[in-house]
Amino acid sequence: MMPLKTTEEALRDNLSMYEDLVSNMPGGVYRFRMKASGGWNFDFVNRAFCELTGLYREDVLNDCETVFRLIHPDDLNTFISLNESVEKTLAPFVWEGRIIVEEETRWISVESRPTSMDNGDIVWSGYFTDITDRKRTEEELRNFKTITDRANYGCALTDLQGFLTYVNEAFANMHGFSAPELIGKNLSALHTDEQIMYVNRLLEELNRDGAFEMQEVWHAKKDGNAFLTLMTATVIKDDDGTPLFLSTTAIDITEHKMEEESRKLLSAAIEHTAEGIVITDAAGIIQYVNPAEETISGYSSDELIGQGAEIFKSEKHDEDFYANMWATIKAGKIWSGRFINRKKDGTEYDEDCTISPVYDKSGKLTNFIAVKHDVTQKLALQEQLFQAQKMEAIGTLAGGFAHDFNNKLQIIDGYVDLMLFDKDLPETLKQDMRIIKQAVDSSAELIRGMMVFSRKTPIDLLPIDLNKLVAQTRSMLARSISKMIEIDLLLADDLWAIKAAPNQIDQILMNLAVNARDAMPGGGMLTIKTENITLDDEYCIFDPLVKPGRYVLIEVSDTGTGMNKETASHIFEPFFTTKEEGKGTGLGLAVVYGIVEQHGARIVCDSAPSVGTTFRIYFPAIEEVHEEEYFENKEPPRGQGETLLLVDDEPHLRDIVARQLVGANYRVIKASNGNEALNLYEEHREQISLVILDLLMPGMSGKQCLEDLLVMDPNVRVLIASGAMNSAIESDLKEIGARGLIAKPFETSQLLEKIRKIIDED
Ligand code: ADP
Ligand code: MG
Repeated sequence: MMPLKTTEEALRDNLSMYEDLVSNMPGGVYRFRMKASGGWNFDFVNRAFCELTGLYREDVLNDCETVFRLIHPDDLNTFISLNESVEKTLAPFVWEGRIIVEEETRWISVESRPTSMDNGDIVWSGYFTDITDRKRTEEELRNFKTITDRANYGCALTDLQGFLTYVNEAFANMHGFSAPELIGKNLSALHTDEQIMYVNRLLEELNRDGAFEMQEVWHAKKDGNAFLTLMTATVIKDDDGTPLFLSTTAIDITEHKMEEESRKLLSAAIEHTAEGIVITDAAGIIQYVNPAEETISGYSSDELIGQGAEIFKSEKHDEDFYANMWATIKAGKIWSGRFINRKKDGTEYDEDCTISPVYDKSGKLTNFIAVKHDVTQKLALQEQLFQAQKMEAIGTLAGGFAHDFNNKLQIIDGYVDLMLFDKDLPETLKQDMRIIKQAVDSSAELIRGMMVFSRKTPIDLLPIDLNKLVAQTRSMLARSISKMIEIDLLLADDLWAIKAAPNQIDQILMNLAVNARDAMPGGGMLTIKTENITLDDEYCIFDPLVKPGRYVLIEVSDTGTGMNKETASHIFEPFFTTKEEGKGTGLGLAVVYGIVEQHGARIVCDSAPSVGTTFRIYFPAIEEVHEEEYFENKEPPRGQGETLLLVDDEPHLRDIVARQLVGANYRVIKASNGNEALNLYEEHREQISLVILDLLMPGMSGKQCLEDLLVMDPNVRVLIASGAMNSAIESDLKEIGARGLIAKPFETSQLLEKIRKIIDED
C-alpha cells in the first residue's frame, strides 16, 4: 500500500503541476498586481510571455514599465483606459493591439480579468496570443475587397463545393442579383441548363489542375437570359497546400463578342466582294487592300501595303486632276470619279472609284477608304454594242438605198442598151451612150457591194471544209498581191465543217488580202490560219454578240501599218476609206462584214499601229459532215442533151451564157425579149426542158412573160435570173410559179447546179 501523501506534499504536487502547465502554455500568461499601498508590478510571467515579448523574466518582474514600453504608442492609450475602466467593475475584457518587438510590429490579443484581493490589491490574471498572422490575412482580405468591390469585372469566392461566400458588385450585377442574394447560392445555379455539363467539367479540371485557363462560358441571369463571359478560376490553398476556397473572375463579353462577330462578317464581306477596296492612312500610304484589288491591280497585298496610293497612277490624268481629288477628300468630302490606272504589268484600266475620308472619335481624319470598280470590260462591251448598233443602222440605210437605186440603174441600163441597138442612132451619140453605160456598170458594182453589206443578196449555204477553200484560193491571192509579200497558211488538222457559200468566202479572203497588201507597201507577211475553237461562257462575257459553242476560226493577219483605235472603229462602214481618191472605195470590209453576218459568223479586228492587223472570223461549226457531203469545187453537173430556152435582152451576156450551156451538153434556143420567148416556147414546147428568164427587159417584163408562159403551159419550168433580187421579189415570183431564182451576176457552175436541180426535181 502506498503511503498517503501529506496535505503539504499534495499541495506541492498540485502547484508544480500548475506551474508546469502555465509555463508550457503557447500563449503568454501573466499576473499583474496593483498594490493597495500604491505601485504596480508583475508577480508572474510564463516562458511564452518572455518569448513573445523578447524580454527577460527578471527585467519584467523588476520593472513593469519595460512591458508597457513595448506597446505601440498608438495603442497604449486604449490599453490603459481599458484596464482603468475595469478596475471598479472587475469585468473581464479582451484587447487587441500592437506591440513592437525588436523593431517588428506584432499583433496580440489579450484576455484578462481583474480580481480584488483581501488586502485591497487588485490582480489582473491575463493570457495573450500572437494574432499577427490572422490580422495580416484580415488586412489582405480587406484590401482584396476594396479592390474587387470597385472592380468592373466580376469576382467571387466560393467554398470547395462551389457555394458562394463572397461576390463583388460587378459579379452580382452582371447576373442581375444583389450581392447578398447570391451568398450561399451554388455556382451551378448561375449557368444555363445546357452549360451545366460543361461547367461541371471545368470544375473537375479545376480540382485536378488547381486552375483553368481563360474560358468563354455562358452564364444565366436571374431572369434566365444567357450572357457570355470570359472566366478564370483558381483554387486558393494554404501554405501546406491544403485547398481552402475557390476564387473566380468573370467579364461579360456578350456585346464584345457580338461586335467581334459583326466585325468578322464585315471583314469577310470586304474580303469577298468583287469591288476593289483600298484603305490608306491620312497621308495616302496604303494600309490594306482586299483580294479583289489584288486581282484588279495585279499587285499582291504585300507589295502594296506601305506604298503611296500613287502606285496606281497612269500618265492619263494631269496634275490638276489628282490635286482636285486630294483637295476634296482632305476637306472631308467624298470624291467620286473615273480613273485610268496602271496595273503592275503596265496595262491601263478604267475604274470607277469612290474615296471617303474616315475620322476617329476625336474627329481627326485618320484614313481614306477607296472603293473601286474595274469598268474596262464594261466600257469595252458598251463600245462593242455601240458598234453593232451602228452597223445595224448603217446596214438598214444602205440596204434601202441600194435596193431602190439598183432598180433605177437597171432601167437606165436597159434603156441605154435599147438605144445602142438602134441602128439609126448616130455614132457620136452611141459613143456618149457607151460612156453612160460604163458609169452605170461601175455604179452597179458599188451598189452590189452595198447590197452584200446590207445582206440583200440571197446566198445558199453548203457544208464546206474551210481548209480546202483557203488552199484553193491561195493561187488567186498570190496573183493579186505583190511578190514582196509572203503568204503563210497555217491550217488546223481535222477542222470542223461550217455552212458557207464558197464564192463568198473567196470574196472575204480576197478583200482581206487586198487590204493587207495595201497596208504592206514595202512587203511583209500575210498569214491565214484556221483553227477549231470552243468559246465558253467566259469568252462570251467579253463579246456579248457571240453565243457559247463550237466555232471554226479563220484568222487573217498582216505585218503592215496597222490602225489606230479611231480608224479601226469605222472600217466596216461602207465608203469608209483612208486611201486616196481612186485607190479605195471603202466597200471591201463592208462587203466582208455583210457576208460574215449572212453566215451567222462574227468578225473582230485587232490592230496596232506599225505592228499589224489581225482579222478573226468565227464561223459556227456544224455537226459531223461526211466526206461526200462536202461541197467540192468539182466539175459542175452537166446536161444530158436537154433543150433550154434562154431569154435575155443583153446580146453579149446571152451569147456567153448560151456558149457555156452548150459546152455543158445542153441545146440552147435564144430569145431577146418576152414576146419572142412566148412564140418560141409555143413552137418548141415539147423539146424545151427549162426556160431561163431575165427579169428586167425592155418591153414585156420578165414577170409578165412568166405569167403568160404558165397560162400556156402550167408545167413549164422557169428559172428566173435577175440583178435585183430580194426576199419579197423572190417569194412573189415563186408564188406565181417560178421553179428557181438565180442572182445576176452568176457563175456558170451555179447556173448549172440550179438547172440540174430543177430538171431533176420532176
Ligand atoms: P478600202 O480598202 O477601199 O479603203 P476597206 O473597207 O477595205 O476599204 O477598208 C477600209 C479601211 O480600213 C481602209 O481604208 C484602211 O484604212 C483600213 N484597213 C483595212 N484593212 C486594213 C489592214 N489590213 N491594215 C491597215 N488598215 C486596214
Ligand atoms: Mg479594201
